[in-house]
Amino acid sequence: MDEAQRILVVDDEPGPREALRIILDPQYQVVTATDGPEALRVIHDTPPDLVFLDVRMPGMDGLEVLKAVKDVDSRIEAIIMTGYASLETVRGALAYGASEYLIKPFSEDEVDEAVKKALARRAERMGEHQQIQTLLEDLRGLAVQNSLLRERLAHSEKLSALGEMAAGIAHNLNNILAAIMGRAQLLVHGPADAETLQRGVATIQRAVEDGATMVQRIQRFARGGLASEFRATDLNQLVQETVEATQLIWKDQPLQEGGTIEVVMELGALPPVRSRPAELREVLINLILNAVDAMPAGGTLTVRTLVRGGVACIEIADTGIGMTEEVKRRAFTPFFTTKGAKGTGLGLSISHALIRDQHGEIELQSEPGKGTTFVITLPLQ
Ligand code: ADP
Ligand code: MG
Repeated sequence: MDEAQRILVVDDEPGPREALRIILDPQYQVVTATDGPEALRVIHDTPPDLVFLDVRMPGMDGLEVLKAVKDVDSRIEAIIMTGYASLETVRGALAYGASEYLIKPFSEDEVDEAVKKALARRAERMGEHQQIQTLLEDLRGLAVQNSLLRERLAHSEKLSALGEMAAGIAHNLNNILAAIMGRAQLLVHGPADAETLQRGVATIQRAVEDGATMVQRIQRFARGGLASEFRATDLNQLVQETVEATQLIWKDQPLQEGGTIEVVMELGALPPVRSRPAELREVLINLILNAVDAMPAGGTLTVRTLVRGGVACIEIADTGIGMTEEVKRRAFTPFFTTKGAKGTGLGLSISHALIRDQHGEIELQSEPGKGTTFVITLPLQ
């Protein structure tokens, strides 16, 4: 330090006060005070590095002054002086943050040593304080950077939601086009009796309607994000139509590992359900196509509707490969797929969003090698 360090000596007795001044004067800048209040005034005006405090003083005693000094600035070091070695006083002084104590009468060497120790401690604490100050400044800088990053992240999240949406649209349009293509091909090549023809055209019409609804939804999303209207829906009819439509995608194509998929429908008596029908169809298509993917060697696809616990349930169960714990945990995560380039990993995440939007729930039970059951629940009308 360039300047001499400041030491304040507080003692009501002139003897020790002047003795200290004489010992310290050549090396330090010494100021004296005769009682607590005067000492505090000095500390406020020009804070010292170190304070000598006599314990026994009229009015404020040394410990009280010590407390007040530490309240002003805890980095000011203090040396307590007492005329007798009271362990209790010494303990109190150390508890209040005194760094040393001297027992009167003291020698010059004792004073020197106590001052050196106290000032060394102060230097160390000032260093720590400096480090903390630097850390605080660093932290403030980081906080600013962090809020900038967060802003940018919020912005990019919006962008990625759009990206996800775009990928989801492509995925769903593909499903719809596949349904149309499947039926159209059958009509072109197959025996076209009047009934087959009519059913085929009806299927195509529904697929086109779903596609149109989806396009409308995208337009609404772009304008501010409202989905299609809620309607009282006959779930059984909707489920039946959807199973029929999806069957066209895979029914006449040989499965990857041979075998066939048997479809079992178990439709219970259901009151009308409040739903957005086009969105619900989209969800069922996703679940059914996943089930088909999960049964490359064939199996049974069971579609059930029922009322349980006051809500409508749709269950889509397969006897396919099932899911490991990890796949189960991540299945609803956007872009999670185990199908490589063939998968988008969006079917389940979009389905989840669509069902939640209809105040419903979608859950799954699965066991590797045994199969998977998806359960959709929707509130009754
Ligand atoms: P994608 O079908 O494009 O992979 P999804 O979101 O539809 O994306 O499904 C995510 C993943 O969940 C699938 O890749 C698959 O691992 C798993 N999964 C979904 N449905 C089933 C099912 N019925 N049986 C086994 N695994 C399934
Ligand atoms: Mg899928």
